[in-house]
Amino acid sequence: MRKKIVAGNWKMNLLKEEAQALTAELIGMIKDEESRPVNVILFPPFIYINALTQQANAETRISIGAQNCSDKLSGAYTGEVSAPMLASLGCKYVLVGHSERRSYYGETNQSCATKIDLALQNNISPIYCIGETLNERESGIHFDILKKQLEEGIFYLNKEDFSKCIIAYEPVWAIGTGKTASSDQAQEIHKFIRQTVAAKYGNETAENCSILYGGSCNDQNAKELFNLPDVDGGLIGGASLKSRSFTNIIKSLP
Ligand code: PEP
Repeated sequence: MRKKIVAGNWKMNLLKEEAQALTAELIGMIKDEESRPVNVILFPPFIYINALTQQANAETRISIGAQNCSDKLSGAYTGEVSAPMLASLGCKYVLVGHSERRSYYGETNQSCATKIDLALQNNISPIYCIGETLNERESGIHFDILKKQLEEGIFYLNKEDFSKCIIAYEPVWAIGTGKTASSDQAQEIHKFIRQTVAAKYGNETAENCSILYGGSCNDQNAKELFNLPDVDGGLIGGASLKSRSFTNIIKSLP
């Protein structure tokens, strides 16, 4: 059975006290959902990972992840944070290839592949983000783009390592724009991703692969999206910064 996951990408938001207060509120709210087998992952800025990992320690349904990691193992790379450093803080997940990293910081499918490798070597599960731009969708090449992102960024893994990864489909045109993919669009792409995974690794691996939707997902549209057969939860940006909306999104998991 594949995992149902709601992940919150805080991006470069919140001061330390705000991050701790939001985490405390989420811990409190998730307690009210005692019977729900949810997996919640919070992706705060690097500098809060240590404190939040300790804060969330007793709540096993909340994990702390990193928004990025270096494609280098160690050395003279000023400003970088390595996968072993994240592991030493108890970090269990890392986002790789978020479209903001791809477009503002020049990340490529190849650098993503290196990061995924380093994460796995350090027992950190990568959430590999893929998605097409509006231009690519309008030109009708979105399936090719997604396939290339999968082939170059993650399909070099063997089956065992691939099974430790999560895929997030995040259409670039939907991120932070208030424009969500329709249910038909989301299901069409998630099904395509699962079929592409099945063609590479077989049906069982594809059926067990969690594929999250991201892009202006909020407490109004989460329920419809999360009920789609090939959507296993969401990667949430803006709506993860308020405990009420994020908890409502968590409650939208079937
Ligand atoms: C994201 O950046 O991963 C994201 C999904 O952002 P938003 O929910 O704000 O569109």
